[in-house]
Amino acid sequence: MLKNITQPTEPIPPVCNYIVKQDLCIGCGSCASVCPTDAVKIDYTAYIDSNKCIFCGSCIWVCLVEAIG
Ligand code: SF4
Ligand code: SF4
Repeated sequence: MLKNITQPTEPIPPVCNYIVKQDLCIGCGSCASVCPTDAVKIDYTAYIDSNKCIFCGSCIWVCLVEAIG
C-alpha cells in the first residue's frame, strides 16, 4: 500500500562529508581548479563549501597528497 508522502517543511541540510585534512593540504589549488561548482576555496589551504559540493569526486582524484576524504 502506498503511503502518503509529505514534503519537508525545512530545507534538508547538505550531507557532504568531504573535508580537507588541513595538516596534509599544501594549498596547491588543483582541487579548486577542477571543481565544477566552485565549491573549493583556497586560503593557504583548501576548504570545501558543503552547500556547493555535488560529490563528483574530482577534487579527490587530483589531490596528490590525498588530503581530501
Ligand atoms: S589538491 Fe590537495 S593539496 Fe592541493 S589544495 Fe587541494 S586539498 Fe590541498
Ligand atoms: S567533490 Fe566535486 S563538487 Fe565537491 S568539492 Fe570536490 S570537485 Fe567540487
